Amino acid sequence: MTKQEYTDINQLLATPKKIVIVSHKNPDGDAIGSSLALFHYLTKTNHLATVILPNDYPDFLKWLPAEDLILKYDSQKEESEAKLAEADIVFTLDFNAFHRAGDMETVLTNNTALKIMIDHHQQPDDYAKFTYSDVSMSSTCEMVYNFIENLNGLDVIDSNIATAIYVGIMTDTGSFRFRSTTSATHRIIASLIDKGADNTMIHNQVYDTNSYNRLQLLGCALSNLRVIPESRAAYITLTQKELQQFDYKKGDTEGFVNYALSLNNVVLAAIFIEDLQQGIIKISLRSKGDFSVNKMSREHFHGGGHTNAAGGKSDDNIQKTIEKFISILPQYNTLLNEA
Ligand code: 5GP
Ligand code: MN
Repeated sequence: MTKQEYTDINQLLATPKKIVIVSHKNPDGDAIGSSLALFHYLTKTNHLATVILPNDYPDFLKWLPAEDLILKYDSQKEESEAKLAEADIVFTLDFNAFHRAGDMETVLTNNTALKIMIDHHQQPDDYAKFTYSDVSMSSTCEMVYNFIENLNGLDVIDSNIATAIYVGIMTDTGSFRFRSTTSATHRIIASLIDKGADNTMIHNQVYDTNSYNRLQLLGCALSNLRVIPESRAAYITLTQKELQQFDYKKGDTEGFVNYALSLNNVVLAAIFIEDLQQGIIKISLRSKGDFSVNKMSREHFHGGGHTNAAGGKSDDNIQKTIEKFISILPQYNTLLNEA
């Protein structure tokens, strides 16, 4: 965004506003971290802010400051729609198109409040008055930090804001290892620690609070791991029956696909998770190097995301979905062997 745009936003925020912050369906650490960071920032600067998320999220994110104030659209529809109807400004964070907000798509499309988008996904839609979109960014949380800096608001950042931003950067960078992690990212992390983010506590809350069942489910997922050496690909499957066997809870499969990608000489990894309720197979794709799973997901699995991390779905059953995945691999063999 230009300097002028930040001046305009500062002018807009010079008087108290009713503000709604929304993020994508199945919110992750970056969605929740960026939403809560902005919530705390706006609340501290005299606005009436509300975070509305399309649906619930994993327990390992349910400790963040003010997390209990988040409205969930699927179970708090009336209250959410009332907040949206009276909003002066709607921030949309960590997504690039209204359909990524699931059942909130229609209410967002019809909403007439001024929109501000902050997002790092490819090909953003053009619905916002102010669009801060940068695909090179590690996370929307890193962008929220920059956004606050550009509003000359760094002094407002307290331990609540620092903690929320830290969570999103940490989760979206795979704990500071993905290529999107830059020296600038680390400088921001350093300043967040200075402002009161407790890095050890945060890592512990997010990564070291496993249930026994979740680890058993991981064992099941790993025993279902298959490798296709000629395509340098690996995939994991989980059926609904297997999920039930280990008392699956939202978020339990988070990160499983990375075990497939951690194999030596594998550059493409997938996990296929059966969801009988929605009648779909939820797919997560990950890659190393230049191979774009965003492209693969857009071409074959009704999804998208980033170059090295994308999601999608299939309406076929799990067997057919795997067969399709295996059948499309040869067309990518050249790229996969160059990656
Ligand atoms: P995950 O595999 O963790 O669900 O998602 C990885 C990345 O892909 C995230 O950045 C997420 O926003 C994006 N993503 C996940 N599912 C979808 C989808 O169905 N459509 C699109 N366009 N992006 C997705
Ligand atoms: Mn993100």
